[in-house]
Formats: sequence, structure tokens, C-alpha cells
Amino acid sequence: MNRLDGKVCVVTGAASGIGRRIAEVYAAAGGRVVVADLAAEAAETVAAGIRATGGDALALAMDVADEAQVVDGIARAIAHYGRIDVLVANAGIQIVSPIVDFDFADWKRLLAIHLDGAFLTTRECLRDMARRREGGAIVYMGSVHSHLASKLKAPYVTAKHGLLGLARAVAKEGAEYGVRANVVCPGFVRTPLVEKQIPEQAQALGLSEDEVVRQVMLKDTVDGEFTTLDDVANVALMLAAFETNALTGQSLNVSHGWAMQ
Ligand code: NAD
Repeated sequence: MNRLDGKVCVVTGAASGIGRRIAEVYAAAGGRVVVADLAAEAAETVAAGIRATGGDALALAMDVADEAQVVDGIARAIAHYGRIDVLVANAGIQIVSPIVDFDFADWKRLLAIHLDGAFLTTRECLRDMARRREGGAIVYMGSVHSHLASKLKAPYVTAKHGLLGLARAVAKEGAEYGVRANVVCPGFVRTPLVEKQIPEQAQALGLSEDEVVRQVMLKDTVDGEFTTLDDVANVALMLAAFETNALTGQSLNVSHGWAMQ
């Protein structure tokens, strides 16, 4: 269980935060990891770190919202490793604002990275998996916001709900090739994406930063604790390594009980 020996795993948004930890955990589990990110230099640093500890990793500069870059990037990954067995569609951003002030360009940018990015990387990886018919796993980085809503996050909540639909559609179509698709739904994890939100939400809601953490972010957890990078990476490993179609089209909250459906 929970081994990825020799499996080729593309992780998007892997230069930072959750994606970075997933790349490291997958490599430690024997996976050959494609560290894909918009931030080329940081992706190279992560890949070099994995290689320095005896793992196998390739850095890939790729904007997931750009069709030509995704087609070319996944082709380069296949040229290097010969196949794709696992995709983790993780790249994402956050933009917080009340709906009445939300800029349309920001709405479209956020949806493009989360949803266009998930679709484009899925299509290119699934084409390889369908061609080889040796199975595969696709893991989407959802959020508690795949199931619940919060103020100030309209496009993020919309995108994360949308990933549930995409995962279910991929589960239906992928079954023919033995490809499973599932969604990990973390609560708040202290990454750059979240650190940036604390002062932004404090200003928007008229609270102190400490109040944002205690009264907004962790209010509904069972224990007032942040979810950790390892919590999320270990669940993403389980979903990637699971061996049968018994687990497909599902979403799993990793959130200290914040969401319980
Ligand atoms: P992060 O900011 O630490 O990392 C995000 C990475 O995505 C960065 O390396 C960034 O360069 C990359 N990226 C952004 N746009 C990209 C693009 N167009 N193409 C390729 N790469 C791109 O953030 P994180 O907290 O690790 O978030 C990762 C994922 O986890 C996101 O989908 C986020 O919505 C989700 N998530 C985060 C939390 C949390 O509390 N941190 C909770 C639930 C879900």
C-alpha cells in the first residue's frame, strides 16, 4: 500500500506549498515526479532537492491555463519518462474580495487556473493513459470550499465545487482505461497562498490577523488546528496508490472536522 514504485507522477503547482510536499512524498514513495509549475526556477530547485535525496524528478515550466504550454509540457514529460501514470492537478491561486467589488478579469483568471488548468492537464494525461490502457490515477486539489462556501471567495468556491464535477466525469470516462479520479479537500494549510490571505481578510472584515485565524479560518474545526502539508500529501499519496476502481469519483475532506460530508 501507498507505494508508487516507478510510477510517473505529474504534480502541477509543485514549486511551493502543498504541491511541493506532494512531489516530495511521491518521490519518497518511489514515484518518478514531474515538478510542474509556472515558476520555472523554483520548480528546478524542488526537483534538484528530490534528486539530492536519491529521488527521481524532472522540473517542467508550464502555465496550466495555457493550452499550448500544457500540450507541449505533458509531451515533454512523456518524452523524458515514456508515460504518465498519475496526475495531481494542484496549481491554484486565491483572490479575496466581496462579489460587489470583484473584478471580472480576476474572476476569469482564477477560474482559468483552477478549472481550465485541471481540464487541460487531465486531457493530455488521460490521452496517454487511454493509449496505453495500463490504468492511472488523477487527483484533484479541491478544498473544503468544494463543499462549503465562505464570504469573499466567490470564484474560488465556484472553481472548487466545479472540480467535483470534473472528477466524477473523469471517473466515468476513465473507468474504461482503469483510470481513477478523486478529489482531496483540505482545510486551511499554512502555505504562501494562505499567509497572503490573513492580512487581506483582516482588512476586508475589520478584524485583527489573530481574529481572522481563530474566528474565520479555524472556527469550525473540531480542535482549532491547521491542517498540515503532510496531512494533505499523505491522503494524496493514498489516492494515487489505491489499486482498484472501488475508490473513484470521490472527495475526501482533510480539514480537522471543518467539513464532514
Ligand atoms: P501556493 O501558493 O503555496 O502554491 C501554488 C503553486 O501553484 C505555486 O508554486 C504557483 O507558482 C503555482 N501556480 C499558480 N498558477 C499557476 C499556473 N497558471 N500554472 C502552473 N502553476 C501555477 O499554494 P498552496 O496553498 O500550496 O495551494 C495549492 C493548491 O491547494 C491550490 O489549488 C489551492 O487552492 C489548494 N488548497 C490550499 C489550501 C490551503 O489552505 N493552503 C486549502 C485547500 C486547498
